[in-house]
Amino acid sequence: MRIVVVGAGHAAVQLVTSLRQDGFEGTLTMVGDEPHLPYQRPPLSKTFMKDGDASRLLLKPESFFASNQIEVIKGTRVTEIDRANKHIVTDRDDTIGYDRLVLAIGAENVRPPLTGADHPALLELRTLAHAETIRERLAVAKQAIVIGGGFIGLEFAAMAALQRVTSTVTEASSRLMARAVSPAISAHFLDFHRSIGNTVLLDAPVAEIAGSNEGRIESVRLADGQSLAGELVLLAAGVKPSTTLAEKAGLQCRNGIVVDGQLTTDDPAIFAIGDCAAVLTIDGIHQRLESVQAATDQAKHLSRYLAKGEGGTSYHAVPWFWSDQGDQKLQIAGLPSAANYFEARPGDGSCLTVLGYRDDHLVSVETVNAAGDHMAARRLLALPGSLTRARIEADGHDLRAIAK
Ligand code: FAD
Repeated sequence: MRIVVVGAGHAAVQLVTSLRQDGFEGTLTMVGDEPHLPYQRPPLSKTFMKDGDASRLLLKPESFFASNQIEVIKGTRVTEIDRANKHIVTDRDDTIGYDRLVLAIGAENVRPPLTGADHPALLELRTLAHAETIRERLAVAKQAIVIGGGFIGLEFAAMAALQRVTSTVTEASSRLMARAVSPAISAHFLDFHRSIGNTVLLDAPVAEIAGSNEGRIESVRLADGQSLAGELVLLAAGVKPSTTLAEKAGLQCRNGIVVDGQLTTDDPAIFAIGDCAAVLTIDGIHQRLESVQAATDQAKHLSRYLAKGEGGTSYHAVPWFWSDQGDQKLQIAGLPSAANYFEARPGDGSCLTVLGYRDDHLVSVETVNAAGDHMAARRLLALPGSLTRARIEADGHDLRAIAK
């Protein structure tokens, strides 16, 4: 039996690791298009901006793959899946046969349809190569412009401010990180960024990016006519799932590669996990989450299925996520987007806990600098049945006490 994994990021590495731990003895091959050994992405917008130490990013040392007989093919892009003959084709014109194929091909940055959005001096952040370029530019910059007030743009702006480069962050919607967090958390981070010297413009969509012949961005023009200038311009306008390979192979894709509760596509020999996968949840909807947690938990679930044949129970895990912005550690358990009522409970200093309810049942807990509440929330949200607002109020909102 040969399992081939396309992509060599968080989901892929967890999968090959778990497959060996779960006793899979067949051939394992992982094909990734980046030139490096698999590395962690979250530090790229956080600690790496400061220390630049790529060796600390590796997900596993080279020796791990060798000793576990996992073949890692780097710098090689898979261009085609031949489902009839069960092989993949690479940009080196090689073909690799498979019995089971796992697509762990992640997501890619969105380039909005704006004049100038393809300017080569416009920076983006997804890969180690991008982060290295940004670090070089940061070292000589005084002022940055960040297009997009989501997690990655804000993490960058916080790290840049620590290095005395302040940013103007332009966000098209009326609040920061709007798709993923509650209004109270958006407001908290708006205050935080302003307090460290960043300028945040809300309801401020970009109309045009104007470049010069010398390979520089001259200005970023907003829809209201305002023109921004800065030596470093980061485009952080969101990501989309990588689906081209799957679409070309005729697999069903809808905001991600569509998979069932066993992470199987409409071809029973092909699976998808991580940022690229739209997974059928126990609520009967397809959901795609861009987080290390989702990539890791889906990989572990698929490994049990492939190595041990443990099917039956559909994939389910409490989503959780974190974002470090300066000294503000945001942690999210559950999905705030599922809530229709929020209750913000400020704690000591900069601590904040926001409880999200759907019809009086707890569905999310966002915390800032309150790791204990976050861990308790993860335990509570994983319990069968849901916790009511009345119960939480009766216990004085003490999540840690309720979780004991
Ligand atoms: P990836 O890790 O993106 O791996 C996919 C790999 O597949 C890539 O190397 C890609 O180049 C490769 N690939 C794609 N197509 C092909 C092909 N055709 N052939 C070969 N290889 C291919 N998540 C959090 O939970 N917390 C955070 O704080 C956080 N911070 C982040 C900061 C940054 C800067 C970024 C970019 C992401 C962050 N994330 C964070 C998101 C997290 O990194 C992703 O959710 C996670 O990496 C998803 O893992 P994956 O394996 O699905 O995809």
